[in-house]
Amino acid sequence: MGKFRYVTNRTVTSKAGEDKGRIKVLVKEGSDIAETDYVCPECGFSEHVEPEWIRPFSVKCSKCGFLIKIRRLKDEIKRDKKREG
Ligand SMILES: [Zn+2]
Repeated sequence: MGKFRYVTNRTVTSKAGEDKGRIKVLVKEGSDIAETDYVCPECGFSEHVEPEWIRPFSVKCSKCGFLIKIRRLKDEIKRDKKREG
């Protein structure tokens, strides 16, 4: 298994506040492609997409247009601060 710059697998909250969606993102070391699998919390549509890796990262549902955003987790912020310090 190769090294990854970024890996996440988390639930996605719908407009109504329900954790009905999922998003999984893998970015390989030395790559700017985000290998993304998502399940839209609004319409249940699931898809694999490979957009460019940009932070903050978001993916638009191809079916209903709902924007799935990856929010930064607390421990990720902590890790970033440590790197800067
Ligand atoms: Zn959707």
